[in-house]
Amino acid sequence: MSTPEKHNFQAEIAQLLDIVIHSLYTDKEIFIRELISNAADATEKLRFLQAAGTPIFEPDRELKISVNTDDTAHTIAIADAGIGMTRDELVENLGTIAHSGSKAFLQQIKENAGNPNIIGQFGVGFYSAFMVATKVTVYTRSHQPEDTGWVWTSDGVSSYEIEAGVDLPRGTKIVISLKDDDKEYATASRVEGIIKQYSNFVGFPIELNGTAVNTINAIWTRSKSELTDSDYEEFYKFIGHDIDGPQYRFHFSADAPLAINALLFVPKRSLERPGMPKSELEVQLYCRRILIQSKAKGLLPEWLRFLKGVVDSEDLPLNISRETMQDSALLQKLNKVLTGRFLKFLDEEAKGDAEKYTTFFKEFGHFLKEGIVSDFAHRDALAKLLRYETSVAEAPCGLADYVSRLPEGQNEIYYLIGQNRGACLASPYYEGLKAKGFEALFLYDPWDEFVMDHLREFDGKKLVAAEKAEIALEAPESKLDEAAVRLLCNFIKETLGDKVDEVKPSTRLVDSPAAVVEGDAQMTSSMRRIMKSMNRDGENPFKHNLEINPNHPMLVGLDGAREARPAVSKQIAEQLYDNALISAGLMEDPQAMLKRINSLLEQLVTAEKSVGKKAKPSETAKPAATQGAKRSKGENAKGEKAPATPPK
Ligand code: ADP
Ligand code: MG
Repeated sequence: MSTPEKHNFQAEIAQLLDIVIHSLYTDKEIFIRELISNAADATEKLRFLQAAGTPIFEPDRELKISVNTDDTAHTIAIADAGIGMTRDELVENLGTIAHSGSKAFLQQIKENAGNPNIIGQFGVGFYSAFMVATKVTVYTRSHQPEDTGWVWTSDGVSSYEIEAGVDLPRGTKIVISLKDDDKEYATASRVEGIIKQYSNFVGFPIELNGTAVNTINAIWTRSKSELTDSDYEEFYKFIGHDIDGPQYRFHFSADAPLAINALLFVPKRSLERPGMPKSELEVQLYCRRILIQSKAKGLLPEWLRFLKGVVDSEDLPLNISRETMQDSALLQKLNKVLTGRFLKFLDEEAKGDAEKYTTFFKEFGHFLKEGIVSDFAHRDALAKLLRYETSVAEAPCGLADYVSRLPEGQNEIYYLIGQNRGACLASPYYEGLKAKGFEALFLYDPWDEFVMDHLREFDGKKLVAAEKAEIALEAPESKLDEAAVRLLCNFIKETLGDKVDEVKPSTRLVDSPAAVVEGDAQMTSSMRRIMKSMNRDGENPFKHNLEINPNHPMLVGLDGAREARPAVSKQIAEQLYDNALISAGLMEDPQAMLKRINSLLEQLVTAEKSVGKKAKPSETAKPAATQGAKRSKGENAKGEKAPATPPK
């Protein structure tokens, strides 16, 4: 037997060990993660060599990781059947700073001098064992058939010893003699919790004192053909803490530009509720099956925070700091690839099963809308995923469908914001489009206003609010001449005063007597409604206009009544405006309006009564109103024409 040979650690390692040992770092338990990670790496490498046909010592040894605790001797041992280390490799790997993780760590330490917390952001790999150890012994036997075993020992101060080991099995076993303060790591229950937390998806069996602990393995690294629906479902329920299965699953692997295995799930339901804090992205980031971060912020854009799952990239350095990682170029690259692929996946799903996609969109559409508003890079891809009802389609359809149906002469995409389908169909803003045979998107979510505002166009077609659509219907034969219309507009403007900026004749109203239209090009009624609801309207400098339909019997009647019965005409002008506000969803306090309606109704019944006996001459004098009434369609006109229309 050889005598132990003493070596001094390279200066940098000694420095590193000094920091590790004297740190006040509380999450010491990560040393288990680090050692299991190394064991898994070594096993992974062995599997690779074996697959490549390299001759291997003890080729039949099972590829598993064994953890053993001894709470009498106060030790914990972690053993693998991986590639092991030769004597030279021991010196190189455990005695010098050749490998990247620790190098980066030291670099950080230098930049953050005097900050002991820095260690918490790092896995310092093998050396983290010295946080809890009085002594670390490494028994190792290389996979190379001609080699022999070696034993490496150190107290982590300044030196280590190497001697020959006899009859060691292939692989590496690391035995840690625990400090008095850290004896908890010799307790099976404590260690089991840690292994479960960090290493549940390590691709090799992990046994603790002879019992398997990681039941679920890294299914995202397996090929799709090997996996069943229930494999996926079980895995989702486990990582998603969900009792339901997922709505969608997206399993993909790529080699370029990055090596990625990703398994992402969309839950059936969104857990985020309005008024509640935003949920956190629950996608775990792995590097070669070792968990790096369980809620990997920055891995996906915030608007994809409803996703759950696992992303594993071999290109990530395992020992990367969480803080540096968050804005690392690598993470951004991952983010870009994953987001692009996921959006493509959704697009394909939407095309493949529209109904299923509609269900998804109902639940998660607002996240996509958030993306459109906040994430310029993905705006176009997201726009394709929007689904809306339209005047033509009762089942929600995409903007591309809408565009594919564009009739000759229509070069813009029109949208209308309303409470529901009925309200949109009845909206005065829809009348002109309908008369032209143009389709309109019906948007029932007030936030769609912002979505449209950010999108501005789709497929080269401008998105235009229906109320801003420049639609000129062929003017029907006018009931009032130009001068009369001008006087009528003046009368209404005088009556309404500051409430409106301008009163002008409309070119696109068909059934409605009037509509409010925002004067500012960027503003729409629904935008104003949102601003009102956010109490931002107080100082709103934009006034709106009232557009009137001079051919509507009510307006024709009003023209006739304006001089003869100024009091009731004023009430009618005011009611005309209020009705337009209601149509636009802008009526705030209906109390004044109710008083007015009651007064109008009162006048109506009194008039009817007196007509029954003897009609007042002034009330019957104007034939214009009756003339207009012939044109009117539906109930709409009935109620409105009453005050100004004398019975025959
Ligand atoms: P890293 O894992 O980032 O390389 P570590 O400090 O964790 O850094 O490990 C240093 C090196 O020691 C590893 O790169 C590997 O070559 C070697 N090593 C550590 N543990 C094992 C093991 N269980 N089997 C074989 N080699 C190992
Ligand atoms: Mg390591």
